[in-house]
Amino acid sequence: MTESTVNPETAVLHAGYRSDPATGAVAVPIYQTTSYQFDSTEHAANLFGLKELGNIYTRIMNPTCDVLEQRISALDGGAAAMAVSSGQAASLMAIQNVARAGDNIVSSTDLYGGTWNLFANTLKDQGIETRFVDPEDPEGFRRATDDRTRAYYAETLPNPKLTVFPIKEVADIGREFGIPLIVDNTAAPVLCRPFDHGAAVIVYSTTKYIGGHGNSIGGLIVDGGNFDWEAHPDRQPALNTPDPSYHGAVWAQAAKPLGPIAYILKARVTLQRDIGAALSPFNAFLILQGLETLPLRIREHTRNAQVVADFLAGHDAVTNVIHPSQFEGEQRRRADTYLNGGLGGLVGFELAGGREAGRRFIDSLELLYHVANIGDARSLAIHPATTTHSQLSPEDQLATGVSDGYVRLSVGIEHIDDIIGDLTRALDAAGKVSAAA
Ligand code: PLP
Repeated sequence: MTESTVNPETAVLHAGYRSDPATGAVAVPIYQTTSYQFDSTEHAANLFGLKELGNIYTRIMNPTCDVLEQRISALDGGAAAMAVSSGQAASLMAIQNVARAGDNIVSSTDLYGGTWNLFANTLKDQGIETRFVDPEDPEGFRRATDDRTRAYYAETLPNPKLTVFPIKEVADIGREFGIPLIVDNTAAPVLCRPFDHGAAVIVYSTTKYIGGHGNSIGGLIVDGGNFDWEAHPDRQPALNTPDPSYHGAVWAQAAKPLGPIAYILKARVTLQRDIGAALSPFNAFLILQGLETLPLRIREHTRNAQVVADFLAGHDAVTNVIHPSQFEGEQRRRADTYLNGGLGGLVGFELAGGREAGRRFIDSLELLYHVANIGDARSLAIHPATTTHSQLSPEDQLATGVSDGYVRLSVGIEHIDDIIGDLTRALDAAGKVSAAA
């Protein structure tokens, strides 16, 4: 990273690529190739032996993906990153890279439903236990830790609750034990830089704000390069014992000549090699287009969301607004500490008329899309009680922060007057339900 790529607006446009060496092309080319010609047998042997880094096969690296990886690394102040096929693949591989059957992780309860399922069911079936703790009390992470705990996991800005995670508090506890904090920063890119607060690894679903245009599924794992794996041989055996799948490499040592990238190097040359959840170069290209305007869009999302939150707070049909600006005390302190330059683009609210009002609100929208997604440039809305959370019992719905009348908005970058106009129309329709009820 050069000095000119430190600022986020510049990093997303310039880090990792200037022009194509063969053609001078300024736009990042889509290197739609599976494999790469080696210069010589010695060159090939060096690449396979990790004596030098270079392209071997697109399942494990690709020049278009590489620019995306370098740009996100520059944005977050990390050491290196790996692009993967989805946010789900990023979460899964971030854990698999350090935990084996018989090990456990400690995770925040406030998670995206897909991640919850992955941890509570799929990883459990594969022998990796997840101990869920309420992030309200960071010390819960310490209490849930034992000798087989390999990682802590959390989301910066989890929805529907939108209560910001205490990153430094939990990262500090982890560092006492030699346990890395992995943070899913999908809902708060640019606004939060988890490495600045002690997180060791960041995962993203690029499907959301980073891609930003609702056209490609993708994910990223970013290595902060700030965690001393070698100092904790018993706690972190996956990086400190000979790896039989790579002629006995001990990753914490083998990576040293290449930089502080032991974690992500292992993920790339073993997990990605074996699992194959690679991002296609075409999707990397589309995500790069989105990334170029991410800081600009995030500013607009954040500004519009604040206006929407204030508008909802003054509306008769709304009983409660869920947005960090509405919080007080410790929750507000966390939002102000960890989100820089705005409180994000997500807003939740509860309707007085409950489930029927929620349904009526959604059906009355004309501009906002009714979709199960966040982070699109367009404004999106969903009524979780009748969709994403409908399989949960009413008690479990409430535990995850979803009441009957709860609506989640992902506020887009349209003109604010048009967003407010559509919300007003739909709230009028929803308000009639509460009046009749
Ligand atoms: N993390 C968060 C916070 C998400 O909201 C999502 C998807 O909604 C994911 C991870 C999973 O991402 P993907 O859909 O790209 O697999």
